[in-house]
Amino acid sequence: MKMQAAVLHHPSRPVTVEEVQLDPPKASEVLVKVAASGVCHSDVRYADGDLGPDRWPMVLGHEGAGVVEAVGEGVTHVAPGDHVAFCFVPACRECRYCLAGKPNLCTVVAEHGSRGMLLDGTSRLRLADGTTLQHGLRTACFADYAVVPVGGAVPIPRELPLWQAALLGCGVVTGMGAVRNVAQVRAGDSVVVFGAGGVGLQVIAGARLAGADPLIAVDRVPEKLELARALGATHVVDAAAEQAPVKALKRLTDGGPDFAFEVIGRPETIRLAWDTIRPGGTAVVVGLVPDGVEASIPAIQFLSDKSIRGTYYGSGDPAAELPGLARLAIDGDLELARVVTHTAPLDGVEEALARLRRGEGARTVLLIDPDLSGSP
Ligand SMILES: [Zn+2]
Ligand SMILES: [Zn+2]
Repeated sequence: MKMQAAVLHHPSRPVTVEEVQLDPPKASEVLVKVAASGVCHSDVRYADGDLGPDRWPMVLGHEGAGVVEAVGEGVTHVAPGDHVAFCFVPACRECRYCLAGKPNLCTVVAEHGSRGMLLDGTSRLRLADGTTLQHGLRTACFADYAVVPVGGAVPIPRELPLWQAALLGCGVVTGMGAVRNVAQVRAGDSVVVFGAGGVGLQVIAGARLAGADPLIAVDRVPEKLELARALGATHVVDAAAEQAPVKALKRLTDGGPDFAFEVIGRPETIRLAWDTIRPGGTAVVVGLVPDGVEASIPAIQFLSDKSIRGTYYGSGDPAAELPGLARLAIDGDLELARVVTHTAPLDGVEEALARLRRGEGARTVLLIDPDLSGSP
């Protein structure tokens, strides 16, 4: 079919919305009519060519929700009409990592996904002139429709409006997973979160649910610090105004927090997270750092029992966790509407990327089918 999609032709050029060709789903694939998609900082990394060469041309978008339009042979977990959120690691369930309970590290997804292909190694997307297009993070949901592998479409309850459900598959899974699966924050643990953007706010929401206290948000944008407070931060630190943020954070946490989350993706803030944690504390790096960039820490400090660890996509089983996260949102324990600072049509994608580059606002949600999205 022909449809509109946001295409990254080359990192030196703006993303354009144009007509592309989408092939029907093959066996074990699902065709979804996209209702809404969140614009994430990882889309900026792709658009700016920060993730290495050969990542274009591509249809961007990896966080979204919609309604199943058709299913390929062998697909039984969803049927046309079902509401779904996208999961951008559609685990194979058979490889070493999947069998070990770490489907976020699925080797089949990693192998084909890094080339922008679906799990059989091919693409369903073409430009009008026939050029093959990559699927952004196995999803490519800045488009009217998306064909995703069977594990990429996760059924969710209809009560949750799709413009809110759109956030589940990246920001929420990643942020909540970092708190629950990686740090395993418990009531009374002290937590500092560097970066109160789309994912950082979900880390804050998750830490609040876990009972973190104090729970401190650090950012340079007052508007985002306001949002952090609204989502449960007990304190905020404006890094643009504070001369010595590490000192201030240590003072607020009796010598350093148990956990610091870096949700920006810069070596400087990774170092800040490390410097801030107490002896025996853990720094969790959630932010996506550009390809080729290194971070450094003073290695003698390993003697203080400090740890630093990475995480990908919540470090759990995203597809299994998504319905529960949707339930939290329906029950009002997870505030999704509030982190959406802008909505726009698909045409607004380039401006949404520009806002993220400027550090403005939290999430923009593209209302690709405004009626279906349920947005007020
Ligand atoms: Zn994302
Ligand atoms: Zn696998």
